[in-house]
Amino acid sequence: MMATIDLYAVFGYPIDHSLSPDIHVRFATETGQSIRYDRRAVTLDEFADAVTGFVEQGGKGLNCTVPLKEAAYTVSDHTSPRAQRARAVNTLLVCPDGQLYGDNTDGSGLVRDLTLNLSVSLSGKNILLIGAGGASRGILLPLLEQQPARLLLTNRTLARAEQLAAEFADFACIEVQPLATLRGTGFDLILNATSASLSSDLPELPEGIVAPGCLCYDLAYGSQPTAFVEWGLRAGADKSVDGIGMLVEQAADAFELWRGIRPQTAGVITWLRNRGRGSGGGSWESGLLPAANGHF
Ligand code: NAP
Repeated sequence: MMATIDLYAVFGYPIDHSLSPDIHVRFATETGQSIRYDRRAVTLDEFADAVTGFVEQGGKGLNCTVPLKEAAYTVSDHTSPRAQRARAVNTLLVCPDGQLYGDNTDGSGLVRDLTLNLSVSLSGKNILLIGAGGASRGILLPLLEQQPARLLLTNRTLARAEQLAAEFADFACIEVQPLATLRGTGFDLILNATSASLSSDLPELPEGIVAPGCLCYDLAYGSQPTAFVEWGLRAGADKSVDGIGMLVEQAADAFELWRGIRPQTAGVITWLRNRGRGSGGGSWESGLLPAANGHF
């Protein structure tokens, strides 16, 4: 008898360079699951119809990336507490009755990469989070749950950071300051959750914000070390890494939600990083990948 092959996909726009199909097919192979995982270019305007069509086609689960995470929250019939807090969904599960359950695995993926893969404890640390877009929305709660001593949020458009901090005010006090005023204030962890790296750009980072032992972490990743990863190394960070580990970890959470089985991630992260080395150099820290552009 033929095994049933369950259908999954990632929706986003642009989507050509998404690594999610590679990651999920590898998870499926290693856990003995029969899945097909498509990559589909879907704009915001097309999203609701595309989801309906996917469910009618028998699809079992979706990943949603830029610019669809807030729309994915809106189309969900039920959502996890962390998705409700973020008001954004990156993983949809099609339930047996056809209803959509929305989750947000970005923050848990980041925290797992930091704490398990990079062995960084966040408890009692001073954290600077740069950016107030969809990614920051998803990672704020899981970061705060690690009980840092201080979480300072900043953004090019400060009003967006203030709005985001206000949304989390019942959970924790999040300080908001313009980046330029932080000169000389050292942080143990600096997270770049802006999309600046996608255009080889950098936020305007002041001097003196890298404390001894600091980890600089760019949520973005690319075929070259991102501008932020390079800045971190120049500024004296102990380590400066890109977001490939987060990408694999958030995918593992989605896979577990869909298939009920937890895939191993270390081998997949190494596999992706080695693919990068094969295409012209790189390091664990910079996490080079061929033909990747930061979308997932
Ligand atoms: P988004 O919602 O479009 O938000 C973009 C953010 O970047 C805003 O805060 C924006 O500031 C800021 N920004 C853009 N260009 C900038 C520049 N030149 N200088 C300073 N700030 C700039 O994007 P997102 O969904 O939050 O994604 C942010 C990044 O995280 C992307 O690189 C994405 O690929 C990455 N990401 C990675 C993973 C992973 O698994 N590794 C998961 C999620 C996201 P304004 O408000 O002033 O416009």
